[in-house]
Amino acid sequence: MTTRDDCLGRDAQDPLAALRARFDLPAGLIYLDGNSLGARPRAALARAQDVIAREWGQDLIRSWNTAGWFDLPKRLGNRLAPLLGAGQDEVVVTDTTSVNLFKALAAALQMQAEQPATASRRVLVTERSNFPTDIYMAQGLAGWLARGYTVRLVDSVEEIAAAIDADTAVVMLTHVNYRSGYQHDMRATSALAHAAGALVVWDLAHSAGAVPLALNGDGADLAVGCTYKYLNGGPGAPAFIWVPARHQARFRQPLSGWWGHAAPFAMAPDFAPADGIGRALCGTQPIVSLAMVESGLEVFEQTDMAAVRAKSLALTDLFIELVERRCGSHPLGLVTPRQHARRGSHVSFTHPHGYAVMQALIGRGVVGDYREPAIMRFGFTPLYTSYTEVWDAVEILRQILDDTAYDIAAKRDAVT
Ligand SMILES: *Cc1c(COP(=O)(O)O)cnc(C)c1O
Repeated sequence: MTTRDDCLGRDAQDPLAALRARFDLPAGLIYLDGNSLGARPRAALARAQDVIAREWGQDLIRSWNTAGWFDLPKRLGNRLAPLLGAGQDEVVVTDTTSVNLFKALAAALQMQAEQPATASRRVLVTERSNFPTDIYMAQGLAGWLARGYTVRLVDSVEEIAAAIDADTAVVMLTHVNYRSGYQHDMRATSALAHAAGALVVWDLAHSAGAVPLALNGDGADLAVGCTYKYLNGGPGAPAFIWVPARHQARFRQPLSGWWGHAAPFAMAPDFAPADGIGRALCGTQPIVSLAMVESGLEVFEQTDMAAVRAKSLALTDLFIELVERRCGSHPLGLVTPRQHARRGSHVSFTHPHGYAVMQALIGRGVVGDYREPAIMRFGFTPLYTSYTEVWDAVEILRQILDDTAYDIAAKRDAVT
């Protein structure tokens, strides 16, 4: 049985422990929500100061060239690529996950429509349990640009294989489910889609910086994801889109803004897509926010995803063990897979009063979040979460549950 002293011992042995100092976390707070908004890298403050005071303030418009603002989406994409198992010049950091998904889905449908063998396919397959914006963006596409296409919602992982058939143009899946923490087998599912003649678009919102990824090795077709979650890019930091070299020539997306043009400053009246990953861009980027992404990526360059994953599994295993042992008399239900290969980096438990219990936890300095229905979500970010914090979080949870120290009439905030 693990004790608090064991946790202290594991922290002393933790090869990633030193990286916590690279983040500015409030003293005494146990932050278990890095899956939703990553903590602030200390370096981000000085970087923001420099971007605002010098690059913007002093150098003004010259900074598009002198500070490399114009190339920033590509430069950051190349820095991010190793974490994704992507090649150089295959990723750009730009726009939002929702918008990038729209581009990726539209491009995938178009790629299928251009092939005689797949041109008649009219179905886009995804999961009902997917993050709603993913479903909404697909529905928006099918309702406007891609009229005549339908979005097929699958109710369980087991039903995905049967749902992919000769009508399926594109399969769109979120690699690690935002609610359950279930991790798909990217290689097997991509192979399944390909065997049926479909393309597969992966959303890596809860995967990038959380689990090792091998986009090229696993045969993915296109991918998108967030930088403000495990990558610690800051609130609303631009997202990313991956287009592998093998698909770039055929990749066309409908948000054909000037940043995606072959020669933006030729100011030509007709759109001609840039060669390569540049064609995934649309327009001018929020440079201040985009620049913060670099501070998050720098921390990952001090380690590797194998070390991050090893600690992530150790933290989530420990949390599951302690909750089940120490809070076992309460009506908690583990939603997250126990099997390592199927688990992301967060753990979800249901409780009939999940929202109220989470509010009580937050009130006592343990920050997780809540997702309908009745799910308390705890994110474990190996760069800054310690084993002892896991112990202390479970101890506070135990006290709250044993004492019924939560308000079941707690009023819902706009963001839960
Ligand atoms: C967090 C998340 C998003 C967020 O999309 P935004 O466009 O940044 O709001 C999208 N999809 C999934 C699966 C997510 O987890």
